[in-house]
Amino acid sequence: MNTELKNKIFEKIRNYNRIILMRHIRPDGDAVGSTMGLKALIKAAFPQKEVYIINEDFSDYLSFLGGEDADISREMYGEALGIVLDTASPERISNKKYVLCKELIKIDHHINISPYGDISWVEEERSSLCEMIADFYITFSSELTLPKEAATYIYLGMVTDSGRFRTVSTNSETLQCAAVMLGAGIDTDRLYANLYLEEYDFYKYKAFIYRNMKLTKNGVAYIYIDRKTQERFGLTTEQACNAVSFLDSIKNSIIWLAFIEYPDESIRVRLRSRFVTINQLAEKYSGGGHDRASGATVGSVKEMRALIRDADKLIKEYKETHEGWL
Ligand code: AMP
Repeated sequence: MNTELKNKIFEKIRNYNRIILMRHIRPDGDAVGSTMGLKALIKAAFPQKEVYIINEDFSDYLSFLGGEDADISREMYGEALGIVLDTASPERISNKKYVLCKELIKIDHHINISPYGDISWVEEERSSLCEMIADFYITFSSELTLPKEAATYIYLGMVTDSGRFRTVSTNSETLQCAAVMLGAGIDTDRLYANLYLEEYDFYKYKAFIYRNMKLTKNGVAYIYIDRKTQERFGLTTEQACNAVSFLDSIKNSIIWLAFIEYPDESIRVRLRSRFVTINQLAEKYSGGGHDRASGATVGSVKEMRALIRDADKLIKEYKETHEGWL
């Protein structure tokens, strides 16, 4: 699929001596995995090229992968090819200097409401951006090599963004791409240990979430984590944000939400769902995202309540008109 686009991108990679890889702010495994994976692929095939991963923020939880690169001068951007990975809109690019690049490529799997770049390769149905990077490798495998390191980064993004290959967007192609990555000899034991082992205190925090979560009449499960709670458990905002996943397996609750208070008092909302589509709800509250995983921001507790009421109404309508949900 999209062979012509991939050819164009590979040609640009071949032609530029300096390439800058960027991703979205508040990175997840897919954003970090895809940038590090693509860099490792390019460096293995073209060791003489300058390839940088330059962003303005980083993720503590992924620090075991190693760091990114230090920024370079503005002049150096002018001769570079910029590739932005896993980032739906220009506002979310974690490097505002992307505008300085000589040419820009967008590679993404989010809904393409804000196209940007000179070349744009977007496949919305992909379970992860790393799946697209794996596919890119497979397309050009006669010209590229797959070091274990690259396969590990790419596989990490595939595993994390597909919820360990459980999301509905996981299909046979996903697993075929994953199989090729595993073939490079990834140490999955170590990878999963780094990704999924938690401190003892983390389970105390988890218990707190389960004690304090709420459920609306029609089945919206939600939790509000204010700054005080984050301080009490010594959480980074990133750790607090992970609470949304604790609510993902409650029967009858087909929408679940985590509200996290930020230091500037804004409240970030993480929305997740089964069966029912929620990105329009997120868009109503200055956000967006995928059908079943979106993000938004509310400015007050009052607005938070309004969002919960809207989500409850959404479930009510869905349950009245559909069968087969659990
Ligand atoms: P999150 O809960 O922040 O991980 O977001 C889930 C998905 O929604 C991610 O794929 C994000 O790209 C997307 N998303 C999160 N926040 C926003 C936003 N403010 N605007 C548009 N998309 C968002």
